[in-house]
Amino acid sequence: MSASSSNTQAHRNPPFRAEHLGSLLRPQALLEARKTKSKDEIADITDKSIKDAVYMQKELGFHAMTDGEYRRHMFWGELFPSLKGMTVTKDVNIDMFRTYVPDIAAFMETNENPDETVICTSKISHSGTSPFLPELKYIQSITPQSEHDKVKLTMPAPEWYHLRYKEGRAYTKDVYVNDEEYFKDIAKAYQAEIKILYDAGLRNLQIDDPNLAYFCSEKMLQGWKEDSSNSKTSEEMLDAYIALYNDCLSTRPSDMHVGLHLCRGNFVGSRHFSEGGYDRVAIKLFQSINVDTYYLEYDTERAGSFEPLKHLPRHKNVILGVITSKFPKLEDREAMKDRILNAAKCVAEGSGESEKQALQRLGVSPQCGFASHEGGNLLSYDDMKKKLALVRSIADDLWPGEP
Ligand SMILES: [Zn+2]
Repeated sequence: MSASSSNTQAHRNPPFRAEHLGSLLRPQALLEARKTKSKDEIADITDKSIKDAVYMQKELGFHAMTDGEYRRHMFWGELFPSLKGMTVTKDVNIDMFRTYVPDIAAFMETNENPDETVICTSKISHSGTSPFLPELKYIQSITPQSEHDKVKLTMPAPEWYHLRYKEGRAYTKDVYVNDEEYFKDIAKAYQAEIKILYDAGLRNLQIDDPNLAYFCSEKMLQGWKEDSSNSKTSEEMLDAYIALYNDCLSTRPSDMHVGLHLCRGNFVGSRHFSEGGYDRVAIKLFQSINVDTYYLEYDTERAGSFEPLKHLPRHKNVILGVITSKFPKLEDREAMKDRILNAAKCVAEGSGESEKQALQRLGVSPQCGFASHEGGNLLSYDDMKKKLALVRSIADDLWPGEP
């Protein structure tokens, strides 16, 4: 097994020219069933809905198929609660949180509390049972074997249940003496999870990480500075998270494509949580994390310019999320193509390639999933299909004949 950081060529197929970020709007029947039906009935409707979603993705020309995350309630699924040492708690006190972390801040602005959270209460280890395996097995069961290496599965960021907590509150001091010890066990658990999925045939993994984009937010960085309980600077925290990522991915085989999705939140009612261009994190993000592909939000001003793409190394890809998944209004196809060509210009400027070569490492997608939360964004199933068709048509124009 060799880690793919040693690869000098960009991984291809995956990623594909036309991508989506994983979660799809759930059909009304499924949402209704989850409120009113029995477990068995829900299971049947879920299976049927996933079949329909896979069929739709094929029809629309998408190759990195997902199950729409229909088995989950939220995009992060059940990984953390499934780990030994992690406990789901409803005993939530706002004092335990970094209230300047954008999703926590957003909850507070609307006078809501996160109604439950996951916290480490004893030494962390993988249970040996993957909560994502049933998702993978099912989509494999309804697609031909020849397509299994394209199937995409998404996973939450390894620091998801760390950044939100005040220093020393993500775990108790009698369990871990410092972050480094805690991260070491999180990494081991991720390695175990990734191995289970790889052995079951997964070759296309996407890690969803709003937290890293928070390090682009002026407001969050200011809050960090003012919080006297932080012993690390925000830069040091970011470095520690990058080291955690690389540890999590250190044993993944090189024929497993790993992508990283950054965004600024995608919550019920099409809400976002943070803003700020990638400039602040670009060098570390692109050059220090050992992933193959970045799925970046680029649908609004919030994400800033394409300038940071100058730091993208030659062996990495970027999928440009220029189409919004938050609202139904369709973007202008020609304008989006121009944006992607402008992005290629920035990539080329940084890498010394021609714009044409740089374009070979790009793709197009919606900026985020359509339903990070089961309730989904403010658009209809039909609107979503139109968005996906638009993504496909832009890809066909820019990269004719390519998947
Ligand atoms: Zn997102």
